[in-house]
Amino acid sequence: MNRAGAGKNPPRCSVCGKPAVFFQRHTGRHLCGEHLGADIEERVAETIRSEKMIAPGDQVTIALSGGKDSTALLMILSRLLPLWEDVRLSALTIDEGILGYREDTIRSADNLVKRFKIAHHTISFRELFSGTLDDLLKGRETEACSICGILRRKALTTGAGRAGATKLATGHNLDDEAQSVLMNVLRGDLPRLVRNSGVDSSGLFIPRIKPLMHISEKEIATYLMVHGMWEELPECPYARYALRREVRTMLGNLEYRHPGTMLRLMESRKKIETRCAGMEQDPIRHCRECGDPCSGETCQLCLLKHSLGR
Ligand SMILES: [Zn+2]
Ligand SMILES: [Zn+2]
Repeated sequence: MNRAGAGKNPPRCSVCGKPAVFFQRHTGRHLCGEHLGADIEERVAETIRSEKMIAPGDQVTIALSGGKDSTALLMILSRLLPLWEDVRLSALTIDEGILGYREDTIRSADNLVKRFKIAHHTISFRELFSGTLDDLLKGRETEACSICGILRRKALTTGAGRAGATKLATGHNLDDEAQSVLMNVLRGDLPRLVRNSGVDSSGLFIPRIKPLMHISEKEIATYLMVHGMWEELPECPYARYALRREVRTMLGNLEYRHPGTMLRLMESRKKIETRCAGMEQDPIRHCRECGDPCSGETCQLCLLKHSLGR
């Protein structure tokens, strides 16, 4: 996890001199639990400010899976809440129906919202698509992540609508986002590379915000440990099929040998996004079957439903 604490003379915090718990490779600083927490919370507040993610009057709904990232997101946003004027928080949990995986994370999400006294909404695949992910996937396990992604998107927008959300916050961290940049490049998907889902001029979508986009997976894990919130949770059983896993290993190696690689990938995306900002976008159309906004004639969800025979 980190080198702090190894050997007889554990490194000291670069800020206060107390024993360090984390070595922040990209800045070369050792940090104690308190100063790692303060650094992370400040950086999240700065990301929210500079990307204009939250405005007065917002009802921010956190997509809470109960896993590490969304747990940290809920804790950090709760702590930062007093900074913002007239902003409310709620949480939304999706039950995809993945046997041996979801039960634990849903229990963890329940405990968390009780502890932080946050309104909690849940929505299930069974209710929306008359079947659990396990039922729907039979024989198509290798496509699990893309199928689940399409279904989750629908579940998130429906659930966020019910929760009265004006912003939907997800726990995507620096590692996730850097992986996505690289994956979109590898797939040649430029529109997705530059699409900023945090702003919506059409009024058709609830904007998605990713306040942890500059915080690494290791920082989040250490943050949870420092606050006694670390819990070993099972990994999604379908994750082994994903291309993301290979990209993750590759980027992990690059980041280790060249600290700051992931942050620089994010800067690259930002620069491309800025350059593309004024350019003409494909018009938003409506699915001819369900009426949801989409880019083609029929939305991905309707196409998927046909292929699943639902
Ligand atoms: Zn310190
Ligand atoms: Zn449709």
